[in-house]
Amino acid sequence: MNCDLRNDFPILGRKIYDKYPLVYLDNAATTQKPRQVVEAMSDEYYNVNANVHRGVHFLSQQATDLHEAARETVRRFLNARSASEIIFTRGTTESINLVASCFGQAMMKEGDEVIITEMEHHSNIVSWQLLQARQGIKIRVLPITDEGELVLEGIEDFFTPRTRLLSLTQVSNVLGTINPVKDIIRIAHNHGVPVLVDGAQSTPHFRVDVRDLDCDFFAFSGHKIYGPTGIGVLYGREEWLDRMPPYMGGGEMIKTVSFSGTTFNDLPYKFEAGTPDYIASTGLAQALDYVNSVGIETIEAHERDLTAYAMQCMMEIPDMKIFGPSNLDIHDAVISFQVGNIHHLDMGTLLDRLGIAVRTGHHCAEPLMHRLGIEGTCRASFALYNTREEVDALVEGILRIQKMFA
Ligand code: PLP
Repeated sequence: MNCDLRNDFPILGRKIYDKYPLVYLDNAATTQKPRQVVEAMSDEYYNVNANVHRGVHFLSQQATDLHEAARETVRRFLNARSASEIIFTRGTTESINLVASCFGQAMMKEGDEVIITEMEHHSNIVSWQLLQARQGIKIRVLPITDEGELVLEGIEDFFTPRTRLLSLTQVSNVLGTINPVKDIIRIAHNHGVPVLVDGAQSTPHFRVDVRDLDCDFFAFSGHKIYGPTGIGVLYGREEWLDRMPPYMGGGEMIKTVSFSGTTFNDLPYKFEAGTPDYIASTGLAQALDYVNSVGIETIEAHERDLTAYAMQCMMEIPDMKIFGPSNLDIHDAVISFQVGNIHHLDMGTLLDRLGIAVRTGHHCAEPLMHRLGIEGTCRASFALYNTREEVDALVEGILRIQKMFA
């Protein structure tokens, strides 16, 4: 990886406490933003800003063009058939909630079933529990092995005549497990069941092609792929989106409104109520252009090398426990660990004092923590700008903290 890329991320040059430079290993929570993203957004605020879609004036049309060009950038990034299938949301969480709410309302009745997995983020659990409370659906949970892989023997038994949707993550934000979603989608489709893929942790790390996956819905967040906060995407096949009612009312989602009734706009606007975050869509498009300019395959190769190096170095630390698959072919750039009986909060806090940012806790996956029989972990997660020297700093930091506790 070209070291000059780090210069695109000014925050990486920050001194934290008296430590320089910052070692930022909390990328699964959110990535840092390159100048290109921030500058494109401030440029739009300074020179273009106007509300989109409804204006006849020059600025409004220019802002609308940028917003719709961003949608096209996302379409290309995911290889979706049509820009009508790309809905801007606030992030993965909102995308999943939208499907749970609107697909649930249109397609699910009391007693119908959704399948999720034991390694889901709360977003992909609680959205379905809300639907369960509203409509009496049932949630079935695919188990995982002790190593953190989905148990696929017996998956066929999870499909019943009442199964309406399978919703699962492509990559676990805790275990780093890369799930074989393409195979799982094929199995689900054999049972006539559509599939929602949570791509929050996959899109930043390797190429995603929604047509190749053949998924029915795909969700991701801008801020985890070098883009701004507050914007994400729901891809949905037109055939499903057409059959779903709107999510919220008002703004661009209407065609006509009268007190006796309202007709709804075409896709994707039917699902985009209110003023969209058109500045963030520009930022997201810039982020995807940035990823494309580095090359997603280059990013993947770099992060795989880094993950393998980190695993190798960390395994040499006495009393180190690493969660997730030992097979690195299916272990993405996320390493959750525990060292002896040092509490993950102590480890994270002390690493922070050494200028190393990791995440600690349950990582919004409490049911997974219960399955693993733990309260939480420390998690180091990598992005395109991380280096082997930063892995060395992490390992040295852990060894130092271990000595303090000895
Ligand atoms: N799904 C997974 C696998 C995640 O890792 C996250 C965030 O960490 C989410 C969903 C929720 O993403 P957001 O908070 O951006 O909506």
